[in-house]
Amino acid sequence: MSTRLARMMFALAAASATTVAAEPVQFSGAAALEFTSKAVAFGQRPAGSAAIRKLQTFIAAQLKPLGCEVSEDSFEASTPIGPVAMKNIIARFRGTSGQSVAITGHYDTKKIPGVTFVGANDGGSSTGFLLELARVVSRMPHKNDIYLVWLDGEEAFGEWSDTNGTFGSRHLAAKWRADGTLLRLKALINVDMIGDRDLTLLNDGNSTEWLRHMVWDTAAQLGLNQHFASEPGSVLDDHMPFIQAGVSSVDLIDFDYGPQNAWWHTGRDTMDKLGAASFQVVGDVVLATLRRLER
Ligand SMILES: [Zn+2]
Repeated sequence: MSTRLARMMFALAAASATTVAAEPVQFSGAAALEFTSKAVAFGQRPAGSAAIRKLQTFIAAQLKPLGCEVSEDSFEASTPIGPVAMKNIIARFRGTSGQSVAITGHYDTKKIPGVTFVGANDGGSSTGFLLELARVVSRMPHKNDIYLVWLDGEEAFGEWSDTNGTFGSRHLAAKWRADGTLLRLKALINVDMIGDRDLTLLNDGNSTEWLRHMVWDTAAQLGLNQHFASEPGSVLDDHMPFIQAGVSSVDLIDFDYGPQNAWWHTGRDTMDKLGAASFQVVGDVVLATLRRLER
């Protein structure tokens, strides 16, 4: 290779590197909605079903080209309907700070006898949101390790209790406690039911106060606080096993889905209720919060 050609190639490479750096990657609410639609197209996706296994393959295929480390936390859950095979899917985007943050959400849907429940918002929206977030995180600079986790088995088989539901998050919190991952985890943000066109996120009193304040304050700075409730509420969700393990965690959930939450856990939880703008709000606030957590 001639020196002149080598210089030209170096100049071209430098120019293209500059171009990439000059375009900050943006979260797309429309893309998150599209990913959600693809997840929902697999049909009812309860833990252990053939449909959720197809969705697991789909999620893994989306992550493959992103250059992250993908691992699976597989286990057999003891449920009221017997043992059920479950699997959390974990994508790790390495940083350099030695600390980490996690964004989690469930990808299973509730098994409801006699109801065709596709969980567009409940199970679908968190799945699609995390897939779009993965695309963004793979292309943005960050110092913390960023874990994106698709949790299995959030839904109870029948009536919710301390031991029926949150199977995946309880398993992962125990695993991460045992292997030391929790010691480096400075914050965890769980998303659930964040696709409702009429988006109001619950101000959850079970979440860690400083982290909840950081998220709400970030939303206010972005002019998005109309979607973040000011009156206090509380909810039990996949953040709880991490809270109980001592991890600062916040749950972002819109638990006001349809009139008096009437679309929740019914056949009416379908794609037509969701809007790209809601995914955009949550994506923008979560990414801005991740930037604050870098400091
Ligand atoms: Zn649910």
